[in-house]
Amino acid sequence: MNDRRIRRIVIVGGGTAGWMTAAALGQALQGNCRIDLVESEHIGSVGVGEATIPPIKLFNQRLGIDENDFIAATQGTFKLGIEFVNWTRTGQRYFHPFGQFGAEFDKVPLHHYWLRERARGDDTPLEEYALAWVAARANKFMPPSSDPRQVLSTLDYAYQFDASLYAAFLRTYAERHGVRRSEGKVTEVNLREDGFIADVALENGTRLEGDLFIDCSGFRGLLIEGALHAGYEDWRHWLPCDRAIAVPCAHGEAFAPYTRSTAHAAGWQWHIPLQHRVGNGHVYCSHYISDDEATATLMNHLEGEALGEPRLLRFVTGRRRRFWHRNCVAIGLSAGFLEPLESTSIHLIQTAVSRLLALFPDRDFDPVTTAEFNRLTATEYERVRDFLILHYHANQRSEPMWRHVARMDIPEPLAYKLAHFRGHGRLVAERLELFQNPNWLAVLVGQEVWPERYDPLADLRSEVDATRMLAGLRDAIRQTVDAMPTQREYIDRYCRAR
Ligand code: FAD
Repeated sequence: MNDRRIRRIVIVGGGTAGWMTAAALGQALQGNCRIDLVESEHIGSVGVGEATIPPIKLFNQRLGIDENDFIAATQGTFKLGIEFVNWTRTGQRYFHPFGQFGAEFDKVPLHHYWLRERARGDDTPLEEYALAWVAARANKFMPPSSDPRQVLSTLDYAYQFDASLYAAFLRTYAERHGVRRSEGKVTEVNLREDGFIADVALENGTRLEGDLFIDCSGFRGLLIEGALHAGYEDWRHWLPCDRAIAVPCAHGEAFAPYTRSTAHAAGWQWHIPLQHRVGNGHVYCSHYISDDEATATLMNHLEGEALGEPRLLRFVTGRRRRFWHRNCVAIGLSAGFLEPLESTSIHLIQTAVSRLLALFPDRDFDPVTTAEFNRLTATEYERVRDFLILHYHANQRSEPMWRHVARMDIPEPLAYKLAHFRGHGRLVAERLELFQNPNWLAVLVGQEVWPERYDPLADLRSEVDATRMLAGLRDAIRQTVDAMPTQREYIDRYCRAR
């Protein structure tokens, strides 16, 4: 037995990051390590963060959470993708679907045949080959099939849920797995002589000692920055939005199985339908618009009665220079912030927890382990950042903020991807990137980045009757969607909030 093993873990913060971390560690460490979580009801959590991406299913599955119970407990809905409205220019729209565009029928990727048909005058939009979009616009939902011969196998999905209900759901789970919760405000972070954290002290005098500390304290980064000064890399020159106003509103009978993002003059607005309400927010750049104007824009675009006062949130896009420093790991908003354009923050919590478990330390805290965690996390943040920048950069809008982001210098890996797509329609996402080729394709085509040519191999494979295959796919997608229940029917049948 290694007597250098971690005996006590202290998690500071009980927002989505704190409780996801507590639930995953509680389950993985099987009661062999004391886990304390401290949170302050007085400070509260950020309270937004309602849309997710497909890998969240894996997080819940690993915890053994039943999907129907989870949807019921969180007032959740299913999400088939994101509709982007007015992003390229006012009046234009496109959909970023989860899953594949059609079923591949040849070694030449489908979109090259689609590009060829387009060059011949066929104006069928690419998204007609995405089951997720055709289902989403009909308000339909059902889980994908595991049979690769069925077009239903090309679908993927995520969830939209009430963040505070999700945290409460995970709290019950974590406490069942031995996590001890303390209520109170951390007022001091005490360091050992070697600069590692010894304990955190609460306002009421309690001290929580630990071997490993997880900073889930949100934007303030109480431990990682406040005590350990890990540093922050500011990305506002690429992602200039720095504020958001959020307000929930009522909705009508139907709740759509997708998130909508609508561009405005100095930012964009989210619309996330849940069972009991719609989450809305306007993300904007304070250099180009005042808080009052941003609030008015949001309120003017609500589709139902506001269910509360609008709330202002400030942020700096970027990432912590060191996510793991000494015996402290930052997870959640304390680790960095990428605006919620592609709903990635909760995913970054999920991968940080998995990575921590994959590189779990002992009390020696080998710097090699820490460095690997930081390297992998930095790369992940940077690749997501590049995908977000693409949405802004490839636009034809005329307002000053949009002209600025269209003209700015972009990171080199994004320029590389753009050059491949513009030149040859080729997609070059690496295997471990979060956003894979179908994701890049959706946004590149959606933002009207048109390739100069398609894959020359398409013209050399004369035995492939692509025109017929594409028409057959469209038919199969339509028939599949016709047979699907509406999202409301599916939820009423299996997972209605009680
Ligand atoms: P918080 O929710 O801020 O929680 C911090 C916790 O630390 C709280 O419990 C607080 O009480 C505690 N705390 C702080 N200081 C102390 C102290 N001194 N003593 C004791 N406790 C303390 N993500 C998505 O995936 N999808 C989205 O659609 C999405 N939309 C977003 C929209 C906006 C405008 C913003 C700002 C974020 C969005 N996010 C989204 C991100 C998502 O909200 C966060 O990643 C997620 O909620 C995790 O937050 P957190 O737990 O790190 O921080």
